[in-house]
Amino acid sequence: MKLAFFSAKKYDIDSFTAAQDADPTFKAVQITFLDVGLDERTAVLADGADAVCAFVNDRLDAPTLSELKRLNISFVALRCAGFNNVDLSSAKELGIHVVRVPAYSPEAVAEFAVGLMLTVIRKYHKAYSRVREGNFTLSGLEGFNLQNRTVGLVGTGKIGLCVGRILALGFQARVIAFDPFPDPRAAAQCGIAYVDTLDSLLAQSDVVSLHCPLMPATRRIIDERALRTMKPSAVLVNTSRGPLIDTQALVAVLKENHLRAVALDVYDGEEGYFFRDASESVIQDDLLSRLMSFHNVIVTGHQAFLTQEALHGIAETTFGNLVTLAKGEECLNVVKA
Ligand code: NAD
Repeated sequence: MKLAFFSAKKYDIDSFTAAQDADPTFKAVQITFLDVGLDERTAVLADGADAVCAFVNDRLDAPTLSELKRLNISFVALRCAGFNNVDLSSAKELGIHVVRVPAYSPEAVAEFAVGLMLTVIRKYHKAYSRVREGNFTLSGLEGFNLQNRTVGLVGTGKIGLCVGRILALGFQARVIAFDPFPDPRAAAQCGIAYVDTLDSLLAQSDVVSLHCPLMPATRRIIDERALRTMKPSAVLVNTSRGPLIDTQALVAVLKENHLRAVALDVYDGEEGYFFRDASESVIQDDLLSRLMSFHNVIVTGHQAFLTQEALHGIAETTFGNLVTLAKGEECLNVVKA
């Protein structure tokens, strides 16, 4: 099978090459690494391939999928869990099979989310810059303990449960969660108690962390009303998907000093900037610029997944998916419309 691998970064090339070295069956997949992202314009670069491999910000909308079909490509292998960037009904109509990596290392994202919480609560980012400048004063750096504080998790899937376990069992925080499809047994094992509504979670929490997927029902689940339901002293963390938050509303409430701090690993509109070096150009996205200018907001570039363990898991599962598809067998990780 020939694979056109879009948005390839050095860490992708290293992890996919290492996986092939470790398992010779994966060498059945011949990869062409392409550093460009996949969209309608760049799809032609996959000419001659049987499959494409795509990541979170590659755009697999109807025109891109039609172009892939024109090139006789019938497999899309997502090397991520989320599939919000794929027009699944078009893929189905065109007979393109979409597979993904449903779980690689929930701990990678969960540990990063907890790290972001601590960063904005204990102000590591400010301390780092201050000390580098030779300023060892502590004024303005006071935070709060996570122990006995209420942390609210929106979504208790693989990552949410893991965050809950770290915070409840490790930090002894009071962890509550909202999920329309609760798993009471798994939650109880992780020390998480469910609440009945999102509003109840938002009103009680000192920290709110988002772990639900992006889909029509969750787009802007954190809108202005939701933000105003949160305590003015609360911290908001998003390591899931940018469009879960109404960014304009977030900027508006931050300007009113509502919310203590915000940590974002994802951003609605990140496709234009994330995963590339824009340090030599002017940021044209005023909302992103405004967000980055708040002293109580930190933005990271969709980095939560990036551990050796996660990259290894992503490569193994993606090769497994492709080898299964090449044999014409049923793949368990297929994404259905
Ligand atoms: P998962 O499918 O295991 O869990 C998602 C949970 O969200 C499920 O329990 C589901 O019932 C729940 N949910 C659905 N609708 C909801 C709603 N309206 N309110 C509250 N909960 C709701 O997914 P996961 O593996 O835990 O991953 C969660 C998300 O994390 C992914 O969808 C992806 O967007 C994001 N993610 C981000 C990174 C990163 O690097 N930043 C990496 C991996 C995943």
